[in-house]
Amino acid sequence: MKTGKRSFIAFIKERKMGLNDFIQRLVSSPHICQHAEVNNFMKIDEHPNEDIEQAILRDGQLYLTSRTSLAEETQIKPSDFDYLKIIGKGSFGKVLLARHKETTNYYAVKVLQKKIIMKKKEQRHIMAERSVLMKNIKHPFLVGLHYSFQTTDKLYFVLDYVNGGELFYHLQRERIFLEPRARFYAAEIASALGYLHALHIVYRDLKPENILLDSSGHIVLTDFGLCKEGLEDNSTTSTFCGTPEYLAPEVLQKQAYDRTVDWWCLGSVLYEMLYGLPPFYSRNTAEMYHNILHKAPVLKPNVSNSGRELLEGLLQKDRTKRLGSKDDFLELQHHSFFSPINWDDLMARKITPPFIPSVSGPTDLRHFDTEFTHLPVSGSLLNSDSLAVTNSVREAAGAFPGFSYGPPVDHLM
Ligand code: AMP
Repeated sequence: MKTGKRSFIAFIKERKMGLNDFIQRLVSSPHICQHAEVNNFMKIDEHPNEDIEQAILRDGQLYLTSRTSLAEETQIKPSDFDYLKIIGKGSFGKVLLARHKETTNYYAVKVLQKKIIMKKKEQRHIMAERSVLMKNIKHPFLVGLHYSFQTTDKLYFVLDYVNGGELFYHLQRERIFLEPRARFYAAEIASALGYLHALHIVYRDLKPENILLDSSGHIVLTDFGLCKEGLEDNSTTSTFCGTPEYLAPEVLQKQAYDRTVDWWCLGSVLYEMLYGLPPFYSRNTAEMYHNILHKAPVLKPNVSNSGRELLEGLLQKDRTKRLGSKDDFLELQHHSFFSPINWDDLMARKITPPFIPSVSGPTDLRHFDTEFTHLPVSGSLLNSDSLAVTNSVREAAGAFPGFSYGPPVDHLM
């Protein structure tokens, strides 16, 4: 009997792994993803009271599980953490500094409102897509995801806490970076993008606020693998949320895009590091869009020839002619601008960073915007909306013992 049960469990495990791989292949082919049937298959749960299969993630591994066993699988819940500060706001949620009560380790906990994610039709597959895309993603310059879990109304992502500040916080203070420093950051970003591309993931909207420095001065990209398109409340803002300066022409024109979109964004980041402003910048947004689509980037001679040549290659409007369109990251690695970089050393984090952020410890928030860090934490988690949902979570908890979890109100207070 016991052997039978064990082999049944092994069989289920095998099937789940097969399904994982299958879904991974599905979501990495955008054209297949658009099929109505595939879309249907990838639907995420709009009815939290239904017991359906869910994709959840633990230690970078994807698990498909039935919702009733979710709590047991993740074994982690919002009340396991003390929430200390708000450290950032994304377009669909907040990022908080949190301390795990038991281990006292610090994490950045990203809290996303399901409601916002679900508002759009295309969002049905976002959760599954995100989870699948994040499977086994490990890279020295990509933020590490430790756990993800959910309550009825929110998704929680427990990430490495990166406290060297946003790269552009430092850039703003110094106006421009000298070439060796800009090269170091561009190389670390490029290697992270190349790694994602090798996994068939397009980062798509690399932007200043997603490029962080860790306490030793290395790059950490946050928010990879999440297709943000459509996460906004209305479609006109969906493509242009956040900082619009780095939008590639094909994204701006809502045309098909591929991994070369990331090389355009890298070109924009590098340009801003070297010249102090994004390429095509104008205070008038319409004019900036016009410049992105129609104007050649202005490349003043205070940057080396190889630097300007690289920028020209990356900021090529025709994506089929863009640097990286043939051999992707390999083409960048071989570019003369990067000739001082030893790529093996870079990947091994052996290159000494040109700048070390001054942080005294994990709770040192000096590099975060006080606009966020002074916000009360309780207000961020316990707004009227989540209060209402907390009640509904309680109701749901009865229906699914062991899964649904409502953070106790007094804890949040
Ligand atoms: P996002 O929603 O990922 O754009 O995050 C919003 C802001 O929160 C970012 O601009 C960062 O300043 C901050 N942030 C995001 N992830 C982390 C992290 N892992 N560690 C520290 N700060 C973060």
